[in-house]
Amino acid sequence: MFDGSDLSAMDFQAMSDEGLIDALRTAHGAAAVAQAAEVFAARELYRRHRADSAEPGPGGVRAGEFAATEAAVALHADEATAGALIDIGMALEDSLPRTRAAFAAGRIDLAKVRVIIDNTRSVARDVLDDVEPRLVEAAGRTNPVRLRQAARRWVARLDPGGAQRRRERRQDDRDVRIRAVQDSMAVFDGLLPAPGAQTVAMRLREMSLQVCAKDPRTMPQRRADALVALADGSGHLRCRCGRGARCPKSDMPIEAPRRPLIQIGIPADTLLGMQEAPAFLAGYGPIDAALARILAEHARFQVIPERSDADEVAESDAAAHWQPSPRLDREVRAVDGMCRFPGCVMPAAESALDRTELLPAHRNTARTNLAVLCSRHHRLKTLADNAKHPWRVWRADTDRLQWTAPTGDVYTTVREGARYLFPHTDIEAPTPPYAGLHRTESPPGDTSYSPDRPTAEDLLYPLNGYVVVHGQLRQIAQDNEIPEDEPTPAHNAAR
Ligand SMILES: [Zn+2]
Ligand SMILES: [Zn+2]
Repeated sequence: MFDGSDLSAMDFQAMSDEGLIDALRTAHGAAAVAQAAEVFAARELYRRHRADSAEPGPGGVRAGEFAATEAAVALHADEATAGALIDIGMALEDSLPRTRAAFAAGRIDLAKVRVIIDNTRSVARDVLDDVEPRLVEAAGRTNPVRLRQAARRWVARLDPGGAQRRRERRQDDRDVRIRAVQDSMAVFDGLLPAPGAQTVAMRLREMSLQVCAKDPRTMPQRRADALVALADGSGHLRCRCGRGARCPKSDMPIEAPRRPLIQIGIPADTLLGMQEAPAFLAGYGPIDAALARILAEHARFQVIPERSDADEVAESDAAAHWQPSPRLDREVRAVDGMCRFPGCVMPAAESALDRTELLPAHRNTARTNLAVLCSRHHRLKTLADNAKHPWRVWRADTDRLQWTAPTGDVYTTVREGARYLFPHTDIEAPTPPYAGLHRTESPPGDTSYSPDRPTAEDLLYPLNGYVVVHGQLRQIAQDNEIPEDEPTPAHNAAR
């Protein structure tokens, strides 16, 4: 019934409106069948990894831990998405057979499957037997938002005593996360137990009222500034009325904010205003040159020289537990910018330095032979280097690190930080067609660039905020990996 080759051969211009609606339904069903196949394939990959990779004890492979990594690099998706696909596959198999069958047949799509899973967790078995057929039936004739409302209502009605159990279980899902959106903005959101969330909200409101009435900011703007003030240690909003000592709030003591909690890589000529190359905000990505210069006003600077192979700094590694010098450490973090695993965006400051391979001693510890890896991918590489895991990693040249997956697929990563610090090395970037500065305004009515509209959820994987429950999979997002006890890297590289 759902045949992709038929769909691609369809002549939409020749169809009646009824024919187009039919084609939409058919295509959506085919997409759901394909989503189900992805989920089942990822789940099976995980089952196999789990069956043959367990090796208990420190330094061993935790069962199945890199199945999501392998799926993610193959799909060019992030590991949290791949982990969610596996988790969904396990939930369907363990407790939702009817949902699984409807998904496999293309009668319900991934978004609705997710709603059903989200709303039937920690629901008693007998209640689930009663409610699942109704949810599958409802999913066939409604959209995900209405389905979510119906699911909550029915579960509450059938299992009123389960509310406390679900609340307690749900508290384990508490989390705070940020998501980069366009225009140097990021969405900061999270899931908190209601009393904690209310505490944060009340504190932000209290801080928003610490400035005088002439402060030009709206309440939403003040709340946003207050949250940052909480984090940077200043703890108070500084009034922006511009009245100096005449401001009734001018005598309020405000601590100087703690600096460098963030790191920015910026080319020297851009810092001086001679060029407008994008700068790199660690953990976020590119920001515009003007914003980088504003942030730089209070910054501490570290100069990262561009080095050719010939003038590499080499350091002796005679010591048994070799540590790079602060200078070498800082230069490697700056030119790598972030974890060197394919697709990983963990900032360099939150990651560790890894020696790629043992070369002759004089080059052993040169900048070209070190790479930044987050704790999760450092673990993967260490296991691979010790032949405990079938990934292989080698350095193709001073810039490129190559990763061979267990299936033989090869992925290459480059030194991202260097692309920002030394823009002439960014040879894959398109060259600007216009000479000089070029300003673009959004056309009237076009709000697609509005910073308060986050990028749409990934339509193919509607898994934003999906909470993974299966134990091993919970550690998949790099942000969630708790580093082993080692001297923590200084937060002052590359600034
Ligand atoms: Zn004021
Ligand atoms: Zn990583």
